[in-house]
Amino acid sequence: MKNLSTTQLFEGIRAADKRILGKAITLVESKLPEHREQADELLQQILPFTGKSIRIGITGVPGAGKSTFIENFGKLALSRGKKVAVLAIDPSSSLNKGSILGDKTRMEELSREDHAFIRPSPTSGFLGGVANATFESMLICEAAGFDYILIETVGVGQSEVLVSDITDVFLFLKIVGGGDELQGIKRGIMEMVDLIFINKVEDDNLIKAKNTKVELLRALHFLPSKEMNWTVPVLLGSALQNKGVEEVFDKVNDFIDVKIKNETFENGRKKQAEKRFHYWVQEYILQKAREENKTAEFYEVHKKNASDLKSNPSTEAKLFVEKLLKI
Ligand code: GDP
Repeated sequence: MKNLSTTQLFEGIRAADKRILGKAITLVESKLPEHREQADELLQQILPFTGKSIRIGITGVPGAGKSTFIENFGKLALSRGKKVAVLAIDPSSSLNKGSILGDKTRMEELSREDHAFIRPSPTSGFLGGVANATFESMLICEAAGFDYILIETVGVGQSEVLVSDITDVFLFLKIVGGGDELQGIKRGIMEMVDLIFINKVEDDNLIKAKNTKVELLRALHFLPSKEMNWTVPVLLGSALQNKGVEEVFDKVNDFIDVKIKNETFENGRKKQAEKRFHYWVQEYILQKAREENKTAEFYEVHKKNASDLKSNPSTEAKLFVEKLLKI
């Protein structure tokens, strides 16, 4: 496939050309240094056109109904004249070859819409890198004019943390169940969520769903409030029957308004960009250290000291960095 110039990519992104959007995202996902160089050039160019979307993180176990929910959420946003992009972070695809999110046809109707763009998860890379690439993919989608960007992940591993690190609002999709099952919810997720949607609530399990809601509210009550003037809502509905989806849509927008009033919206984004910066500093230091002959040698020595359990890893890392800074 022919490589596109940065100008071609830029123009394609601004024109919301889906094929070019795909190519630009592949570029930011690449680890090759020449690709990174072009990615940086492109990201600088699009920067003035970014920042205007609402960035939504969404998590839930496989089968919770995320695709079904996003399909209806997306269609609702389209009906209100908005554009929607969906990106996925799938830890299973970086831990092994299989992908929980990627191997089925997803959001078929939404993907056919002109004003919707769906990108399956990156198929390689470790999680930190995947979060970075997703952050940059999100910027690309923003420069293309998407109003809502949904970043989806399965609630396993550390992926929720990474998603909440790059989004404005974090939505947890839960299926009906209570008691023992609730114990299974990681405390971490409860601390991160801004909104909970109990899905698959239909006539036969309404009472059970209401009990789950009470339990969730009780669990939330014991956690410190994440956002001033915001109590995490627990909504009930059925993504399949398109019930409750509009309520979530409205709550998402309410939450953004609260954040803007609290001045945590812009500040949150600044902190997120700072995290990305930290990530890249580490990445480039390590890359440089491994590349340069002089440093590669003592990098290996200190790494081996640590991996042989001869010395404390933190001590070895510190010794290595001290040497690196003296060069
Ligand atoms: P994901 O893995 O979280 O993306 O879940 P999917 O959206 O693929 O849904 C998994 C299965 O649950 C599919 O067969 C859906 O049709 C079904 N499903 C999703 N939402 C609902 C719902 O609200 N009610 C019922 N009964 N089934 C649902």
